[in-house]
Amino acid sequence: MKRNRNCLKGMRCPQCGALEPFEVYGPCSVIVRDDGTETVQYCEWNDDYACSCPACEFNGLVQDFKIAYQKNRRRAAKRGN
Ligand SMILES: [Zn+2]
Repeated sequence: MKRNRNCLKGMRCPQCGALEPFEVYGPCSVIVRDDGTETVQYCEWNDDYACSCPACEFNGLVQDFKIAYQKNRRRAAKRGN
C-alpha cells in the first residue's frame, strides 16, 4: 500500500483516502506534495492549521488528516465516547 514518506508522512484524507495533494493554510497557502516539490519551502506546520483536500473538497484541520488521529477517533467512537 502506498504511503507518504516525506512532508505528508502519516497523513491521509479522512474522507476519500487521498494521500496528496493537500492544501494547507498556514502563514502562506501552498499546495503540498509528499515529495516536497511545487512551491514548498519547508515541511513544518501546526496541527491547528486549516487543511483541505482538493479531490473531494473535504475541509478540516491538519490534525484531521493524520492517520493516527483518525484511528484514535474511530476507537473512541466504538467505545461510545
Ligand atoms: Zn479527500
